[in-house]
Amino acid sequence: MQHGTGEREWLEYFGRVYGVPVVAVEPAYTSVNCSSCGETVVKTLSTRTHQCPNCGYVADRDENAAINILQSALRELATTLGHRESHASGENDLCLNEETQASKLTRRKRKVSQ
Ligand SMILES: [Zn+2]
Repeated sequence: MQHGTGEREWLEYFGRVYGVPVVAVEPAYTSVNCSSCGETVVKTLSTRTHQCPNCGYVADRDENAAINILQSALRELATTLGHRESHASGENDLCLNEETQASKLTRRKRKVSQ
């Protein structure tokens, strides 16, 4: 049963349909890394609390994982939007045109990578 894979494909399908960036976050590391300083804090499945020996940050492990997922999603989005912005910078008159070209490029890139 490939539960995770199906969900990813579903997300990528909607990403293509609506032309929005799909952010894939590796869930394996989200509960291990400290959402405050990034230090790897190894826990067993029974450890419910994240306690960072490096910065002293204490949080529920799910809360820490949620913050990590949010942060990596935002990083991913910032990278995507950053590329688009630099592409169209200083050409306000061509903004609409540039955006169309950018989304075409994105679509082409996705096809090539598959
Ligand atoms: Zn920390």
